[in-house]
Amino acid sequence: MTKILSGKIIRDRIASRLKGEIGSFKSIPTLTIIQIGKLSESNAYINQKKLFAERIGAKVRHFSLPVNVKEKEILSIIKKLNADRKVNGIIVQLPIPTQLNKNKIIESMNPLKDVDGMHSENVQKLFAAQNDGYIPATARGVKDLLKSHKVPLVGRKVLVIGRSILVGKPIAITLLNENATVTIAHSHSKNLRELTKAAEILIVAAGVPKLIGPKHVNKGQVIVDVGINMVRRSVKKLQEETPSSKMVGDVDFQAVEKKVKAISPVPGGVGPMTVASLFQNLIDAYKKQNLLR
Ligand code: NAD
Repeated sequence: MTKILSGKIIRDRIASRLKGEIGSFKSIPTLTIIQIGKLSESNAYINQKKLFAERIGAKVRHFSLPVNVKEKEILSIIKKLNADRKVNGIIVQLPIPTQLNKNKIIESMNPLKDVDGMHSENVQKLFAAQNDGYIPATARGVKDLLKSHKVPLVGRKVLVIGRSILVGKPIAITLLNENATVTIAHSHSKNLRELTKAAEILIVAAGVPKLIGPKHVNKGQVIVDVGINMVRRSVKKLQEETPSSKMVGDVDFQAVEKKVKAISPVPGGVGPMTVASLFQNLIDAYKKQNLLR
């Protein structure tokens, strides 16, 4: 029988552990979210973070800035947050308006508070397999999902579909650091079906519903579906289901489920792991910062 790689079960375990840890802390770990504009998908992601924080006893401070905010103002907020000892983590909810210099904003963060792992210092640490940086939450979530469900990674042939800076690339490097043999496919890759069939573990992060169907998979395969797409009337990337739309991943779950060894569902797979992983990073940040004081 196909094993379902539930992220909810693991997320709940992580939540209990973090709640216990926070109970023993002298102060409340605090995450600051900077949101620019009011994209509905960002609102949904931020709500999930707030709910998880409440559950484990952490705090979220939410700066909601207008879409036409000046870069100078964002940099000045980040400067204050960098210096504020009560703030342990800072994230800039992406995407941000294109007139802003994303790199400059990210690089202005104290890398010790960059719990999304976007600052060049943390990216460099991920590349160097140094474990004292922060792994971007989705990548940490994928790794923990596989490990918690006891999927061996060492020497395994992994194909990651997607090479974005926030999702595909960090997943590939994280699994490489776990000694998997990693290949990355993207929108220019040829013969995708050949690549997917040859993989023992297939991670799909393309944002294309039904990209992977029964012809792409093999019997012994483990599939992790990272995609989040809202389908029915139109295909939109959102995190909330409405009566006229439903959330699906990048894998045609119904058609593929019986043909593989294990598969993560959407919703209920990588999504819950991503939120839990962000707060694991926050707790790591809290501990590091308190050690330094
Ligand atoms: P993106 O659009 O930045 O990147 C998509 C990547 O997929 C690109 O590298 C592109 O080359 C590749 N791609 C697109 N079409 C392809 C095709 N036909 N064949 C092969 N490769 C193809 O998106 P992203 O930010 O990396 O997100 C990817 C997906 O993951 C989205 O659905 C997003 O909503 C989802 N996501 C989920 C979580 C989660 O927690 N589950 C977190 C972040 C993003």
